Amino acid sequence: MVDAMVLKRDLSGAVDRGELFLQYQPKVNVRRQQVASAEALLRWRHPTRGLILPNDFIPLAEATRDIDRMTLWTIEQVIADQQLLRADGRDITVFINISGQLLSNAKFVKRACEIVSATDVPLGFEITETSVIRDPVSAIANLNIFADHGIAIAIDDYGAGLSSLAYLKQLPARELKIDKMFVLQLTSSNRDPLIVRSTIDLAHALEMEVTAEGVETPAALALLSVMGCDMIQGYLISRPVEIEAFRQYMRDHKDA
Ligand code: C2E
Ligand code: CA
Ligand code: CA
Ligand code: CA
Repeated sequence: MVDAMVLKRDLSGAVDRGELFLQYQPKVNVRRQQVASAEALLRWRHPTRGLILPNDFIPLAEATRDIDRMTLWTIEQVIADQQLLRADGRDITVFINISGQLLSNAKFVKRACEIVSATDVPLGFEITETSVIRDPVSAIANLNIFADHGIAIAIDDYGAGLSSLAYLKQLPARELKIDKMFVLQLTSSNRDPLIVRSTIDLAHALEMEVTAEGVETPAALALLSVMGCDMIQGYLISRPVEIEAFRQYMRDHKDA
């Protein structure tokens, strides 16, 4: 596909040209109704094509191996934005999505740990189970290294890909995120509520907190609350927004 080839070429310089930027989306604690943490989501402002979303360029960056530089840039940008939140008196953990292939990239792991060691702002990494299953020995070892550096680990997209209870138990994760494919139809499907409820119970049995992503309606929130879901994330609370708008959101929700 010509399009992908052109994009791949453009992508290699996108970091240096300052074309990447981040949006932040809060995760809210269901019971306390407070912002618990946030997720950083990468965007690419292409000079001629306009806004490109990560599903259209992360796979290309993984193929060209630009993903390690892009992710290191993301970690540094999140830390810089965290200083702004801290100046506002809001010290929340910000989670960064980490591609599976980076979990077996020793150079990336070393560099990421160096960057994280030089700061004391709270950070988290979101990883999918599928990415652990690909190369479990080094993935689990490196996740433990990240956890030892104080990075919170969350399992992303739970239920959407390959899943293994054997690995789930071995991961140093304290949060499990239920994929939005189960949450979006929670109140209109017969099957999804059963899957969501059993996932919440499973996570709690493993002493993990549960986040539901893709919460768009008050009805979904109400059902998740009854099911004992700990945190929610979705358009009902806030769309992903750039740092200045996110700071404003945090000011407007000081105790909520
Ligand atoms: P994800 O980690 O599962 O992120 C959740 C996606 O759902 C985001 O899409 C978010 O904007 C969207 N979303 C949030 N709330 C709602 C909602 O209520 N309804 C619906 N329908 N969607 C909602 P986005 O930002 O397009 O990101 C897509 C994927 O790209 C992410 O899925 C993640 O896997 C990947 N990604 C994003 N940033 C990065 C990054 O810095 N590095 C890596 N490796 N992957 C990233
Ligand atoms: Ca994520
Ligand atoms: Ca997710
Ligand atoms: Ca996803």
